[in-house]
Amino acid sequence: MRLVLLGPPGAGKGTQAALLHDTYGAPHVATGEIFRTNIREGTELGEAAKQYIDRGDLVPDDVVIGMVMDRITEPDCADGFLLDGFPRTVAQAEALDRRLRRPSVPQEPLDAALNFEITEEELFRRLVGRAEREHRSDDAEDIVRHRLEVYHQKTEPLIDYYQRQGLLIPVDGIGTIDGVHGRIRASLEERVQVSAVPSDPR
Ligand code: AMP
Repeated sequence: MRLVLLGPPGAGKGTQAALLHDTYGAPHVATGEIFRTNIREGTELGEAAKQYIDRGDLVPDDVVIGMVMDRITEPDCADGFLLDGFPRTVAQAEALDRRLRRPSVPQEPLDAALNFEITEEELFRRLVGRAEREHRSDDAEDIVRHRLEVYHQKTEPLIDYYQRQGLLIPVDGIGTIDGVHGRIRASLEERVQVSAVPSDPR
């Protein structure tokens, strides 16, 4: 299963990607998480990304694209992946498409792009709660406003991009976590050939 999760910050992509990982077994590749880990560990990549993340800007395409292409070449991604937070620009989406079309690597095209739909009021409510709970400095209100502008400008065009490829699956992001998960599973099972992994008997 090769999925892209699209949607504004706070739409529930990370939460739902984690549940999809539990259900289908595909690795959850979350670019924001990879950056935050690198910042915590003080790596060069973390250093390069931090200034952009703190301002609520996107990390430059070449940095993100290189990082994700390396990640999806790892053996655990051979049968699929759940891309959470990537692509965020048309250039990133094109780079991913080019990679998945390359005959030299055993990669198949994407199965679907899940587009999380949610109102701006609900986003603010969630992100302000997350800033308090997780101390994510980029969830402070002025930075959130900027991240939403960046989303509209740079990421929203991807809705059209995947719609034209016939890959877009809209997801109503409002509701309980389990309710949203159930709706995603129903859409995927209708549109894409997927099977759940047996649950851990422990
Ligand atoms: P997230 O946890 O997905 O909200 O990402 C947190 C921050 O990491 C974003 O606001 C960006 O600064 C950066 N980031 C994550 N993914 C990408 C991406 N695909 N392209 C550029 N910047 C990214």
